[in-house]
Amino acid sequence: MKDLFDLTGKVALVTGASSGLGVQFAKALARQGADVAICARRVEKLEEVKKEVEALGVRCYAHACDVLKVEDIKKTVKDVADYFGKIDILVNNAGVGDTAPAESMTDEVWNRVLSTNLDAVYYCAREVAQYMIPRGYGKIINVGSIHSEVVMNPATWPVTAYATAKGGVKMLTKGLASEWAAKGITVNAIGPAYFGSEMTSAILDSGAFDAVAKAYCPMGRPGREGELDGALIYFASDASSYTTGQLLCVDGGWTTI
Ligand code: NDP
Repeated sequence: MKDLFDLTGKVALVTGASSGLGVQFAKALARQGADVAICARRVEKLEEVKKEVEALGVRCYAHACDVLKVEDIKKTVKDVADYFGKIDILVNNAGVGDTAPAESMTDEVWNRVLSTNLDAVYYCAREVAQYMIPRGYGKIINVGSIHSEVVMNPATWPVTAYATAKGGVKMLTKGLASEWAAKGITVNAIGPAYFGSEMTSAILDSGAFDAVAKAYCPMGRPGREGELDGALIYFASDASSYTTGQLLCVDGGWTTI
């Protein structure tokens, strides 16, 4: 049973691994034995993460990548595959959390949220699949959100653009899963509630979040570091060999009520 979750000898690519959940994902994969490639725009932060990952006893390769540029994605994926010889696992994590009321949102914000949180998830999956399909093996984990399933009381904060993208991630996950199941690739998604990160610090530290968590989350609290690891490692490992197209919300019960 223990071996079912072992990732020794696997190679994982984590996007958006310069801060927040991406760092946690990279380290969780490394603790299971995977070599890890990390990418994001802020290379100085990636270099710090690289040291933390290597300290866990695996190889780590850091690569600058702006997921808003398809050519960057192509180059990153090729360089990672050349460096390690393969890519077994993709964690499609890079994302932004910009928000504004729908009636006054600028085109720029709408496009940035949709392009980063949805379009780039597809482009990264498509490019990595070029290396997974010939080998007949791959585990793709998209990072959705509870907002793949539900929005938010707009009096709290409006999430229309973000939820549109994350809802799209849910269906993208199903679509890719159905197309690539026979090619040996599973595609699943994690839907976190609120976890501490650069994206959420303003919300979580505002003092207003306690009341929101009590109203919307049966467990009445944000997620804690490490509480996404189980879902990630399940989807990244052969424990999930017959599971594909699923969105698993890790949310203290948020989406149950
Ligand atoms: P952070 O802001 O801490 O991290 C976002 C990461 O995405 C950074 O590493 C950033 O790197 C990267 N990124 C953003 N834009 C780009 C881009 N154009 N090109 C490459 N990388 C980019 O936020 P989180 O850790 O919270 O978010 C990670 C994912 O988790 C996102 O998809 C988010 O939607 C999702 N999520 C988070 C939740 C939470 O509560 N924290 C809840 C549900 C989902 P850099 O700036 O260096 O490029």
